[in-house]
Amino acid sequence: MDNEKETSKTAQLKEKLFVRNVKGLQSVSSDDIAQADEFAKGYMTFLNHAKIEREAVATSVQIARENGFTEYDSTKNYQAGDRVYVVNRKKNIMLVVFGRQPLDKGVRFAIAHIDSPRLDLKPNPLYETNELAMFKTHYYGGIKKYQWTTIPLALHGTVAFKDGSTVNVTVGEEDNDPCFCVTDLLPHLSREQATQPLSKAIAGENLNVLIGSRPFDDSKEAELVKLNILNILFEKYGITEEDFLSAELTLVPAFKARDIGFDRSMIGAYGHDDKVCAYPALMSAVNTYNPEYTAITILVDKEEIGSDGNTGMQSAFMEHFINEIAEKNGLKGYKVLDNSKCLSADVNAGFDPTYSSAFEQNNSSYINRGVVITKYTGSGGKYDTSDASAEYMAEIRNLLDKENIQWQSGELGKVDGGGGGTIAKYVANLNVDVVDLGVPVLSMHAPLEVISKTDLYMAYRAFKAFFQ
Ligand SMILES: [Zn+2]
Repeated sequence: MDNEKETSKTAQLKEKLFVRNVKGLQSVSSDDIAQADEFAKGYMTFLNHAKIEREAVATSVQIARENGFTEYDSTKNYQAGDRVYVVNRKKNIMLVVFGRQPLDKGVRFAIAHIDSPRLDLKPNPLYETNELAMFKTHYYGGIKKYQWTTIPLALHGTVAFKDGSTVNVTVGEEDNDPCFCVTDLLPHLSREQATQPLSKAIAGENLNVLIGSRPFDDSKEAELVKLNILNILFEKYGITEEDFLSAELTLVPAFKARDIGFDRSMIGAYGHDDKVCAYPALMSAVNTYNPEYTAITILVDKEEIGSDGNTGMQSAFMEHFINEIAEKNGLKGYKVLDNSKCLSADVNAGFDPTYSSAFEQNNSSYINRGVVITKYTGSGGKYDTSDASAEYMAEIRNLLDKENIQWQSGELGKVDGGGGGTIAKYVANLNVDVVDLGVPVLSMHAPLEVISKTDLYMAYRAFKAFFQ
């Protein structure tokens, strides 16, 4: 008996029956790696210009217009191949490439979110204490509060005035701009703080931002440091203290996207979650011409706080648009949705070897192993998830394999280790087939998150294949 032959028969049977071994970068062609490096440059520029949702929308409009998209006109009838964009309240955008098939055959959605965790200013934020001027903040989304102390922060957002005008504010991004920070207690005096659990050591009400320390003049008035700050803001933006009540101002990390590693294989940046999916979803719409089914990329706001509100995924914005384009074609909107398919373009937690016990290794995603399909998210026994169907999972597996796109499947950490959600369930509730597909992230929701350049590129290829 030939032992070697037997072994190879065994190996063949294993190859046939075992789940395929997802390989890392060894399985990615040098051509794909070069393309990924090129694609990453555009992404890093996008990140630096799109730290908050309003900026992400404005940047997306610019990219769309440069690539032949025009603003949607509800009085017009559109034909296959037409390219339009729709902006909802400056914080939510939809890019549409009309397909050759009639709308009741369904559309293809790629939906990502463009809001990220951060420190929002309270409605009445400014105060002076012990001759220091400070902003009170209310954090937005899931953060580990200690990570947001003692790092440079930039102020972004918009102030709306009673006359209907607005002013945009961005301070802290240019090299010669001032920036801001949250202070922390020195280790020498932290004996008490150091005994606290991580969740309590930095209180939410202690995320106060240092914004000034010089008095307006040497008069005997109180609150002269605060006055000085208000005077600077008034001269530059025309803002008075009361205008903060009608503002959306937020503090985000002031640093720019950077290559990570001697080999420059990764990107460290603020806001990968979820711009690392939003950008490839945007670019795949931009590079889709004359698709079979109408291709729609939607970038939504408010995902990090539950997708509520008129610019979040639970808004009727998308449904109203589908109803409108369906009616123009003599169809009911629900007929379009019933046959539609969606990739909920969101990130998953990349396996972190330093914290391996938080993960179940057979069902985790790993950076450099391609896009991750997440069948369900949720927590506590699959609560709060839409859980993609077996049939739809099979369809997406087949698509990715056919296009030779590197992919993997993953859960969000160990059972009962925590959990989370995405926009998937809100789309599924409209009777659309949907599954999460996105990029694995290290240090998710930290001021500096890390992703792999090839995973980013595979996400782009996946959305593009889905649209074509
Ligand atoms: Zn998130």
